[in-house]
Amino acid sequence: MSYHLRTWPDKILKKKMDKVDFFSDEKLKEYIDVMFKKMYELEGVGLAANQIGIPYQIIVIDTTNREESEEEGKKLVLINPEIIEKDGEVLSTEGCLSFPGVQIEIPRAEKVKVKAFDFDGNEINIETDGFLAIVLQHEIDHINGIPFINYLPPVKKRLVLEKYMKNRKKDKDTAKAKGV
Ligand SMILES: [Zn+2]
Repeated sequence: MSYHLRTWPDKILKKKMDKVDFFSDEKLKEYIDVMFKKMYELEGVGLAANQIGIPYQIIVIDTTNREESEEEGKKLVLINPEIIEKDGEVLSTEGCLSFPGVQIEIPRAEKVKVKAFDFDGNEINIETDGFLAIVLQHEIDHINGIPFINYLPPVKKRLVLEKYMKNRKKDKDTAKAKGV
């Protein structure tokens, strides 16, 4: 399997991923390792499995090196994560590795409660706000096939997508001309 970064409109970013039922397994370890490796390579703070072509509900997060944050950083592996409670609303400025060049402001819940499992299938419960709450919502959306542009009003979403697709085509043509 090739674990390269998938960018919009790749089909795998539009589907709900399958639940993991192979806990403590070699394959699951391989997926988690490659996800961290890719996330650091791409300088992201979070990555969902389908962003690199892995069709399961796995997310990894590392906010430990985020300088502008005053919160304590967290390194997390969450399997089959679900948001079970949301509270409050904040405006969040977000980018996404799967939408190169796009940065938008969207509403998010201020606080979330998340239920997930670790590598061995033990239940994990997280209750948080601030930056981590935003990253959790963004990544859990990914494994459910929901892109962050869906939170924009329809007209704005269309404009952002049109611009993105135009730039994407330009980048592809440049790559073709260079033969890469
Ligand atoms: Zn994303």
